[in-house]
Amino acid sequence: MKKAMEPRVCPSCQPINSPVTNYCGTCGHELSEQAVRDLESALRRIQQNPDFRFIREMADKGRNLA
Ligand SMILES: [Zn+2]
Repeated sequence: MKKAMEPRVCPSCQPINSPVTNYCGTCGHELSEQAVRDLESALRRIQQNPDFRFIREMADKGRNLA
């Protein structure tokens, strides 16, 4: 069993966060391995989604117009 109830220190901005929070309340940095995994799998799902490619193409078109 890991020491789950220790306060979590944000590596980015340092304030001590609640032991049960997965993200820093100040900057949103992931504070747990689980949160990092969730974020990575969410990013993978987005990148594999055909709609995401469409959105990215739209964004590229927008940049070209700017
Ligand atoms: Zn932070």
